[in-house]
Amino acid sequence: MIVIMKPKATPEHTAGVIAEVERCGFASHPIYGEHLTVVAVVGGHPGDLIGHFESLPGVDRVVLIDQSYKLVARAGRPSLGFTVGDDLTIGGGAPLTVIAGPCSVESEGQVMACARIAAECGATMLRGGAFKPRTSPYSFQGLGEEGLKLMAAARAETGLQVVSEVTDPRLCEVAARYVDMIQIGARNMQNFALLSEAGATGLPVMLKRGLAASIDDWLNAAEYVASTGNERVLLCERGIRTYETATRNTLDIACVPVLRKLTHLPICLDPSHAAGVREYIPPLMMACAAVGADAIMIEIHPEPGLALSDGAQSLDFPLFQNVMRQLRAVPRYDYAEAAANGAPRGS
Ligand code: PEP
Ligand code: MN
Repeated sequence: MIVIMKPKATPEHTAGVIAEVERCGFASHPIYGEHLTVVAVVGGHPGDLIGHFESLPGVDRVVLIDQSYKLVARAGRPSLGFTVGDDLTIGGGAPLTVIAGPCSVESEGQVMACARIAAECGATMLRGGAFKPRTSPYSFQGLGEEGLKLMAAARAETGLQVVSEVTDPRLCEVAARYVDMIQIGARNMQNFALLSEAGATGLPVMLKRGLAASIDDWLNAAEYVASTGNERVLLCERGIRTYETATRNTLDIACVPVLRKLTHLPICLDPSHAAGVREYIPPLMMACAAVGADAIMIEIHPEPGLALSDGAQSLDFPLFQNVMRQLRAVPRYDYAEAAANGAPRGS
């Protein structure tokens, strides 16, 4: 069950709800969101007390939720998106956010070249891994904190917001000094200690879908972040393992309408890690826009043949410039408009 506070509810109203929830023997998880304050009520059978909680001062409505995730559940709430840094909005009807950059931060020259071309072509976020989760322990593991410093320098020059992966709970604090958004990689989607630490930084968290995770597993992982009081979670589909071998993974584009129904969180699609093959990325980018994703994430590299990771799927700059021109022309499916015109859900 979640208690949704009125937009004008005061902190005292919310404190009163929390106190009453706990007095009745339940646990409370408040989220003081950018747009709305909600209090998740967990444990026991709070459903019997809907009327009681609804009568408390400052409460707008109380919604019973069947799923084990509560704070990230749609529960009739609109998709309002959230802010990254000072003024970048992801989701909530904002233009498609393009996040571009190298798989790994390799050098100042490489990351700056990527940042400049990304900004020039209309991307608003720069990606780049400083801590790399590699399948083999002998592959390049990333530049660590030095890499994060290079990302922050690229933000200073270009104004792009930066996102980078954190692979260990102990690294969250250091990463938070440099990045605007923390990325949790597919291999760590259910690393619950990491999810909690990332959430506790208060920064937005991009949560990649696990290689073999169901949508339900993924939303429960997102709930771990939200339950720290941080609701700024960007879900990122990056391809799942199937029997198909022609692509690295299978991009589950259908997750977008499914997630629109189940959650109010914004959605990112990453065709680079899904397809794994450069030539397949541009047409998939068009599909990501058309299906109504809030953001897409793309790997680019000045010389993909020399990349220390994921070169085969990285776009070179001419290809990136070309596809970014085409991308602007793609109409995006508008879930809010569909809902306003009577579609069953999703806004
Ligand atoms: C990445 O974004 O470079 C990455 C390692 O992605 P994933 O966790 O989806 O494999
Ligand atoms: Mn990569």
